[in-house]
Amino acid sequence: MPVLRQIFYLIACIGFVFFIQPDSAFGASVENIRLGMQSDTTVRIVIDLSQSVDFKIFPLKNPDRIVIDLPQTRFNIKGNDLPEKDFINTIRLGMTAQNDARIVLELNRGAIIKKSFVLPPQSGFMWRLVVDLDLMAKTDGLKQVTSEWYDNSVSSQSSDTPAEEQKSKPKPLIVLDPGHGGQDPGAIGVSGVYEKHLTLAMAKQMRSLLEETGRYRVRLTRDKDVAIALYARRRFARSLGADLFISIHADSIRKPQTRGLSIYTLSEKASDKEAEKLAESENKADIIAGLDLSGETQEVTDILIDLARRETNNHSSFFAEKVVKEIKQVVQTLPNTHRFAGFAVLKSPDVPSVLMEMGYLSNKEEEKLLRQPSYREKLAKATVRAIDSYFAEKHKANFN
Ligand SMILES: [Zn+2]
Repeated sequence: MPVLRQIFYLIACIGFVFFIQPDSAFGASVENIRLGMQSDTTVRIVIDLSQSVDFKIFPLKNPDRIVIDLPQTRFNIKGNDLPEKDFINTIRLGMTAQNDARIVLELNRGAIIKKSFVLPPQSGFMWRLVVDLDLMAKTDGLKQVTSEWYDNSVSSQSSDTPAEEQKSKPKPLIVLDPGHGGQDPGAIGVSGVYEKHLTLAMAKQMRSLLEETGRYRVRLTRDKDVAIALYARRRFARSLGADLFISIHADSIRKPQTRGLSIYTLSEKASDKEAEKLAESENKADIIAGLDLSGETQEVTDILIDLARRETNNHSSFFAEKVVKEIKQVVQTLPNTHRFAGFAVLKSPDVPSVLMEMGYLSNKEEEKLLRQPSYREKLAKATVRAIDSYFAEKHKANFN
């Protein structure tokens, strides 16, 4: 019996280690966010945590907001569980590229961050990050978030407070994602050309053009003929903190006369039946390539936070419209060129992402054109112009 029991424990331990593996990247989790008024002008924000964390808290302007970063932490709460108070416009939850949980409190009046500290578990409460704010009078027009640092926290973080974000900002990073690869050829053209080769060729051309401008950093999810899981493609972009993600594809359908470029942004509801079918077939890439899908669930459930995603989606659509405008002038496009569907590769909550279907490999003329480097160059150049205008306007509008 004791031997059996030992074996049982051993198996249980091994099982446990495997079971916790997917979460090992995250030390702590945010279990709840609570707000309480201590007086008319004093607010206490309490963030319930599964364990102690280092944290950073800092104010940002335009609009006034308080940002709390918790390294290697995930959210165990949903967007709609967040508290509401009249001095708060919104509370946003998101993940930074470094797997830090970010809580953004957008205020509609001035405030002073009086104190921030971590409390250990006590009388039935778990670990808590406490932030005390002094609300300023409603002197409309002049809203100011200033900070006074009280180093009561477990760790010391008062020294490295980024009061202003825009100092020597690096060039925007664009991640290009050539669709398919390896065992998964993607669509196969009328002449037998594989989508995976065309997407890679296009990505490389686009990379050269972007790098030539000197304005961007560019990375490819693959620069060889290899299979990569869909979630790994977007995780690659997120881990680098990409500013824009462009997945490149070419389509094929039964109607040989259909041709034209289209560009997609994420939506759970497809814009039409064709879009839905297309997303379905593109999402099958992992199955075709025999890839492991285990990373998928965790990312979707834990990290995909609605509020962050909605904002990112706005940026994605804004960019897609720029592409449509530029591309329409140089090549044939599908009617309703900007479309919507649930592509797995577009589901980064914090990286604006689009998927470009360059055209139909099932159409003889378009397939021939797509095989020509000069035609792809035209597409790539128009896309670079769209990228330029996206970043120029994004910078002007400062919507961050
Ligand atoms: Zn494809």
